[in-house]
This record gives sequence, C-alpha cells and structure tokens, in this order.
Amino acid sequence: CGIIGIVGVHPAAPLLLEGLKRLEYRGYDSAGMATLVDGRIDRRRAEGKIVNLEGVVADQPLAGTIGIGHTRWATHGVPNEANAHPHATDRVALVHNGIIENFAELRDELRRLGHAFESETDTEAVAHLVSHHLAAGLSPEQAVARTLKRLHGAFAFAMVFAGHDDLMIGARRGSALAVGYGDGEMYLGSDALALAPLTRRISYLEEGDWVVIRRGGASVFDAEDRPVERAVRETAVSG
Ligand code: GLU
Repeated sequence: CGIIGIVGVHPAAPLLLEGLKRLEYRGYDSAGMATLVDGRIDRRRAEGKIVNLEGVVADQPLAGTIGIGHTRWATHGVPNEANAHPHATDRVALVHNGIIENFAELRDELRRLGHAFESETDTEAVAHLVSHHLAAGLSPEQAVARTLKRLHGAFAFAMVFAGHDDLMIGARRGSALAVGYGDGEMYLGSDALALAPLTRRISYLEEGDWVVIRRGGASVFDAEDRPVERAVRETAVSG
C-alpha cells in the first residue's frame, strides 16, 4: 500500500520507519523493510502496526544505508509475517503496491525452474523472476526491464540487489511512485508526504516508467526502455 526507498549515507532503518509512519494514513495490515549489509540482503517484517515492526527492529537492529520499506494492504494471501513485504531471494529484495494479475502463471513457470515460494502473495513471483534473470547473467537493469514486460496488472516497485550498494530500481504502472532528490542521497516514495522529512525535490514517474537510482542521481526509462526526462519540482509538502 505504501513504499519508501532510500539510497543514502546515514543508517537507513530509522529513516525507513519514519517514512512508513508517514504512509500509515493510507491504511495497512503489516509492514517490513530490507537493507543491504555488507552487500547482503537483510530483512525485518511484522504483522500489524508499524510499532510492531519497530519492536522487531529494536530487538534485532537492521544496519545499512540503502533500503526499502513497505506498508501492506493484502490482496493475495492473509496478513501475516510470511506474506509481508519485502519479498526476497538471495539476489533481490522488493516491495510492491498493486496486483500482479498473472502471478499464478509466473509462479508455476518459476516453480518448474526450481524456485521455492515462501508466501501466498502475487508479489513473490516478481522477486523470483528478477532473480532468475540475474542468475542467468543479466544486469539488474536488464533483469528488471525484462521482468516488467512479463507483468500484467498494476504496480509500483522498489528493488535492491545483493552486491549493489549504490543501486535501487523503481517502476510504476497504475500506482504512483515519486523519486526524491537529496544531497548525495536519493529516495523513492509512494508520495511526497512520505519523503517530506528527507527532501522536497520530487519528480513523479509517468505511467510505465522505470527508474535507476544511485546516490548521485536518477535515470528514467519509459515502457519501451527509452531514456526520458521527468521534471523535478519543489513540493509544497513540508516535513
Ligand atoms: N498484492 C500485494 C500483496 O497482497 C501488494 C498489496 C499492496 O499494495 O500493499 O501483498
């Protein structure tokens, strides 16, 4: 239901939690986040309120300066920890808003290729499909571009990749996603409100866009993978 992503220079977990709290107004039934620690994906998730996730993170701190966070409004699979986002393999972690209409077909295909599923969500098939392309030797950018072309339905995504400490990929079709420009940091968020404490310099992705962000900036591509420019504006929303 809500997404936040930070490619930053400060510990990401407290900033992700703050962003998730600012997305609470949209409604949700569970929450979670993932960061990269020494190049590896680390993840914390909890059913229910953000305070539950906060408790989990207090017990088991989450390091890292790059990470993604999610508030979930379940559409496929009950609200529980296993179905909470981020969904991940050892290569990629992602958060998703929306519905992947053809997830069952993708899941069956990926199961035949040896992928084991841990949740009942539509989202998890996307993590495995990206992972499958990465395992075949594609770059994260190529793996995501190829995956997006297989998806039917509505989505906003934020993804991080094991071994890539300065890379996050976002995409949108049918759900909103904003790119936030910081000072040596970059962000993704469902709306400007989530990013308000971090930056007021925002660009909204257009339908079908996907974006590659690094600490130094963003490159946006349209649905046909052509590089495009999306205007950066100063929002009136204040932190
Ligand atoms: N369809 C996904 C799920 O049920 C994402 C729901 C959402 O937008 O929060 O997990």
